[in-house]
Amino acid sequence: MFDSLKDRFEKVFTSLRGKGKLTEEDVKLALREVRLALLEADVNYKVVKDFVERVRQRATGQEVLSSITPAQQVYAIVFEELLDLMGREVKPLSISPKPPTVYMMVGLQGSGKTTTAAKIALKMKRSHRPMLVACDLRRPAAVEQLRVLASTVGVPFVGPEEGETDPIRVARRALERCSETLVDLVIVDTAGRFQIDQELMQEVQDLKGAVNPHEVLLVVDSMTGQEAVSVASAFNDRLGLTGVVLTKLDGDARGGAALAIRAVTGTPVRLAGLGEKVDDLEVFDPNKMAQRILGMGDVMGLLERVQQATSEEDVERLSESIKRNRFTLEDMLIQLRQVQKMGPLEKVIEMLPIPGVSKALKDANVDPKRIKHMEAIILSMTPRERRNPEIIKGSRRRRIAQGSGTSVQMVNQLLHQYEQMKDLMKAFGKGPKRGFKVPPGL
Ligand code: GDP
Repeated sequence: MFDSLKDRFEKVFTSLRGKGKLTEEDVKLALREVRLALLEADVNYKVVKDFVERVRQRATGQEVLSSITPAQQVYAIVFEELLDLMGREVKPLSISPKPPTVYMMVGLQGSGKTTTAAKIALKMKRSHRPMLVACDLRRPAAVEQLRVLASTVGVPFVGPEEGETDPIRVARRALERCSETLVDLVIVDTAGRFQIDQELMQEVQDLKGAVNPHEVLLVVDSMTGQEAVSVASAFNDRLGLTGVVLTKLDGDARGGAALAIRAVTGTPVRLAGLGEKVDDLEVFDPNKMAQRILGMGDVMGLLERVQQATSEEDVERLSESIKRNRFTLEDMLIQLRQVQKMGPLEKVIEMLPIPGVSKALKDANVDPKRIKHMEAIILSMTPRERRNPEIIKGSRRRRIAQGSGTSVQMVNQLLHQYEQMKDLMKAFGKGPKRGFKVPPGL
């Protein structure tokens, strides 16, 4: 999902990484890339223009915080703006205090309307008794499709009787049946066409007037990009939508619809279709979506793990070592244990917020077993050796290898890594010494 958009954003942040201060030129170049990324994702050009302008204002107007790098700063701004664009809250589908609740599904043919009606029925079945109602009477196949889906998800179904052509009558009959069947949620599938036309709109509007729905959900195909946004506008003007369901986000949709629908129509995306199966439906969560787009990984999850794995004592000790430029193998052991405590390494790597790095680490094939070996090697050393690694020469190396069940080569490797970490810590010790606030590396 959104792969090329993600790659583009990654490039923007990579180009800013390592910069100590943001110049006007940096901001200009970064914004040009952001603009291209969004346009390429098929986001409406006016939405892009406003978006870039807001990021520009915030990026240039903000004082440079010493605790985070410019790349992180721009990253945070773009993240915030993406949330503003898509809306921040996740609003669950409403339920009427006076049953039955009625949802009306509208949309063009082929958008996934009928499938989505069944997906919603399945989701709501956990807490309610939904019924599926076929009111797309122009296409007999649509009625049949919904009947089959209703039986797949195991909910009651109401469709037209022989020769019946008035969708309002079918809907009314369904509503009347609610009390006898204990149904408290009626999901009405309506007629779809390949294009918006007057007749279709009128029919759906009349049906809306008759069933008085609590939710009017427009189903749009995310693969159609800006077209999906215009469809949403047209339906919203005529019917007053309460939400949009974006389908086929499992494909290679470029993202334009997900980003622009709310900005253009004022109607939030409420649900996301992620496949053809009846359980492939997710609540559309702008936060998660922004994280996916920016390749942020699960930063909050990562921070939590880091915090859980790091005891106050360890932090004290490490910062003391760094300050005094006395990073020993004992400190390295603490760090290795932290990494282990953080959970499966692959998961941690996946959560890394730093564009590019997580891929590089994955490619380097970090093996959790190696960490165990490294720990064993350090534990086979005497305390004196751990504090003074420079004394570990040939015969000591052989003893340590034997004691830890590894090889001299692996001991050499660990000592080499230790040297590298020490250098890193030295450099780190010269920089700001405050706590872990924002994801490092950008
Ligand atoms: P309708 O004409 O709007 O009622 O559309 P349908 O429900 O018949 O769906 C049209 C096609 O899109 C079907 O082949 C569905 O299986 C497929 N479809 C629906 N939603 C999704 C989705 O979220 N992902 C994928 N990959 N296919 C979907």
